[in-house]
Amino acid sequence: MAVKQKSGEYYDDLEIMSPEARVKYLNERLSRTVRHAYRHAPVVKLTFDKAGISPSQIRTVKDLERVPILRKTDLIELQRASPPYGGFLAIPPEDIDRVFISPGPVYEPIQHPRIHWFAKAFWAAGFRKGDVVINTFTYHMSPAGILFHEAIRDCGATVVVAGTGNTEIQIQTMRDLKVTGFVGTPTYLMTVIKRAEELGHNFQKDFSVRRAWWTGEMVTPSTRKILEEEYRIHTSQAYAVTEPGGAIAYECHRKSGMHFMDEYVLEIVDPETGKQLGPGETGEIVVTPIHNKVWGLIRFGTGDMSSYVTERCPCGRTAPRLTGIVGRAGDAVKVRGMFVVARQAQEVVLGFEAVSRFQLAVSRTGERDELTLKLELKNENIDRAKLSAELNQKFQELCRVKLDRIEFVSKDTLPEKRQVIVDQRMWK
Ligand SMILES: [Zn+2]
Repeated sequence: MAVKQKSGEYYDDLEIMSPEARVKYLNERLSRTVRHAYRHAPVVKLTFDKAGISPSQIRTVKDLERVPILRKTDLIELQRASPPYGGFLAIPPEDIDRVFISPGPVYEPIQHPRIHWFAKAFWAAGFRKGDVVINTFTYHMSPAGILFHEAIRDCGATVVVAGTGNTEIQIQTMRDLKVTGFVGTPTYLMTVIKRAEELGHNFQKDFSVRRAWWTGEMVTPSTRKILEEEYRIHTSQAYAVTEPGGAIAYECHRKSGMHFMDEYVLEIVDPETGKQLGPGETGEIVVTPIHNKVWGLIRFGTGDMSSYVTERCPCGRTAPRLTGIVGRAGDAVKVRGMFVVARQAQEVVLGFEAVSRFQLAVSRTGERDELTLKLELKNENIDRAKLSAELNQKFQELCRVKLDRIEFVSKDTLPEKRQVIVDQRMWK
């Protein structure tokens, strides 16, 4: 399939293919990737043989459910046992273009920098020729700095090679070079703005930053609002995972979720069973890169919990959208078939001013899981019925599981150090 690139709003025409064309495209790429990995990466052959699967059985995304999920810990152990690549390398070693090192350590070989994985995200964020972009991600060891650098260049913009650290020099550089784009974490951008203001600058007047892009950190809506409304900076984010090679999903200008990148097969699965979940259901993000042959990462479990939506986005891109990262798989408890993630529950419940402490308890009556929310209040005199109604609604809306009851407990009943969710079910 010939892919047409960079036409106006879209980076390539994969972004706007019909859902039927996408299914066909992903399935074809996937089965080709699996066949190649099985033939060339010894550990993939071993895994498939052990699980009794032949590569010809993986013809569709649904077929992937048969393949065990690969964890980062497995990757580290396999690389330790069989250095340096753990049997995942699927090309001749002399064809490796570069090697990244991520914590573990995990050695990640890259062939030719097919830079458009990230360029697509930068393009959607509006980076173009004429922009001067400061890249404050590290250029050391990890892929971030150099991959973003090449992607920004691919969109035609100029890159200021800043890397991390020395905020005051960064500020001076941004002012002197009239930097229009900032690539770095939102926390760091806020630090830069605050420091610039402390130094007596008026950030809006003295600086030209109009666009910011980040990954690796989910920003709070309030920080984003400050950046967008107070400082008039258009912000965009992407979801990236180092091991499978980069950006997995990215925002368009509508900012209502992150479009799946067609260079990967992205599954949302039940982390316990590995079974795929449908739209709106919270599960673990599992990624299979299908755009390169370098290493045979099939079904890499990210440990991040999210869900996705398939409703058409007004931007015209047709890929489903990831709704945001709600927590880690290890902090999730399954209730009536749905995963409740500790961090997400915390955000919902502590979003209510009146609540001082809380705990969720999962119990079982007969064949049914029951979810109880225990609450301590800051002030005993508030309207409990109203609070319960609002909490019930918000909880169901965001965590997608209905609370069975809310119990108000007196002050200091819940220990200061406690688990957010306690599982009291007895499994026989
Ligand atoms: Zn969109």
